[in-house]
Amino acid sequence: GYEDVLPYFRKSEDNDTFEGRYHGKGGPMGVSKPAAPLPICEAYFKAAQALGIPFNSDVTGAVQEGAAYYQLTQKNARRASTAMAFLHPNRSRPNLTVKLRANVRRIIVEAGRAMGVEMMDGTRIAAEQEVILSAGAIGSPRLLQLSGIGPADHLQDLGIEVALDQPQVGSNLQDHLDLYCIAEVSGPHTYDRFAKPHLSVLAGLQYLITRKGPVASSLFETGGFWYADPDARSPDLQFHLGLGTGIEAGVAAMPEGGVTLNSCYLRPRSRGTVRLASSDPAMAPLIDPNYCADPYDREMSIRGLKLTQEILGQDALSGFIKAERLPGPDVRTDDEYFDFICQHSKTSHHCAGTCAMGPDGTAVVTPRLRFNGINGLRVADASIMPRVVSSNTNAPTIMIGEKAADM
Ligand SMILES: Cc1cc2nc3c(=O)[nH]c(=O)nc-3n(C[C@H](O)[C@H](O)[C@H](O)COP(=O)(O)OP(=O)(O)OC[C@H]3O[C@@H](n4cnc5c(N)ncnc54)[C@H](O)[C@@H]3O)c2cc1C
Repeated sequence: GYEDVLPYFRKSEDNDTFEGRYHGKGGPMGVSKPAAPLPICEAYFKAAQALGIPFNSDVTGAVQEGAAYYQLTQKNARRASTAMAFLHPNRSRPNLTVKLRANVRRIIVEAGRAMGVEMMDGTRIAAEQEVILSAGAIGSPRLLQLSGIGPADHLQDLGIEVALDQPQVGSNLQDHLDLYCIAEVSGPHTYDRFAKPHLSVLAGLQYLITRKGPVASSLFETGGFWYADPDARSPDLQFHLGLGTGIEAGVAAMPEGGVTLNSCYLRPRSRGTVRLASSDPAMAPLIDPNYCADPYDREMSIRGLKLTQEILGQDALSGFIKAERLPGPDVRTDDEYFDFICQHSKTSHHCAGTCAMGPDGTAVVTPRLRFNGINGLRVADASIMPRVVSSNTNAPTIMIGEKAADM
């Protein structure tokens, strides 16, 4: 439960702002307040407040709802990746070997036990105790299926010898679908102006000297949480204010520059799949996110998109915004909104659920992350989430890693 895993969230953090029940200091992962917010962020908070969405100084604290600055996995205005935070400081440990550009071809399973892994070059690494699979919500089910662990009919179709028929491997794929509302700004109010080469150079210099400015920005460090379903037990919408446009593929940058407000519905009912295109381990897998297959997801997503339009249309932002460009005035009916979503939405990169944990034997892994039906194998990554969390997935996945290490 939540109270069981909360200490692991705290443990990983070296938070530059908060400490207490929900946050930690002194952990390996730098967590920081944004280094480079712009005045348009404050205007966005006022616009949200005008619609009854309060400002929240910490949406990862006691209360999730509200408009907010996000904290970032940054340390000293530099991205704090898990490799930098957890691996680099421990490179000299005798029980750690890091192999770069080393792709695993398959997990070796003999008589129902994971014995080790075979690399793409054919070398084998034997497991003394267990194989811990941590290849992500796409990579883990892909590797399992390449190893003969997955839906038997699918594996047989591809000529892969079945080690274990487990239809749930690669099923239950969930993601948050990002929808975006884009407005043209009336002046240099966002970071779009730094697209010009001479200003890019200046931005680079500013970062080197002050550790501030656009280079220190994630561009999406403002946002918050609110409700598509007013009766939801906790927020089911998330926003990201993008301090520019042209960030999303397929959207042309505007002459004056722009601002983007993304929304995503956080508790999708639709489920997708990760399957293999072939038995060739060099081939990319077939990923079908199946977004909005459930009509409820469509309805909630459209509500979120309409709310972003309302926020950007508030008086508080009128000094910054010239006009909404996307979806724009031509999108009116729910069918038109859905067409717009089909054309312009994108992944939030929050894939989860494809090796789901559960209490009974039909789940892919047990609550101790042991693989049901294969001995000596555990999975520890975003794939074990039974349902995708109602937020970003990086910190929860790090929590899963911390908890797995304790197991
Ligand atoms: C572009 C992008 C932006 C994101 N932004 C945010 C954000 O702002 N906030 C947030 O909370 N989350 C964000 N996420 C999501 C977050 O990064 C993921 O939820 C998290 O990294 C999942 O961790 P994981 O360990 O499950 O998988 P991963 O981080 O994907 O790790 C899996 C690892 O396994 C390796 N691997 C896979 N297959 C093999 C193989 N066969 N052999 C060897 N190695 C293999 C991969 O190379 C990778 O290093 C973002 C994701 C992306 C892609």
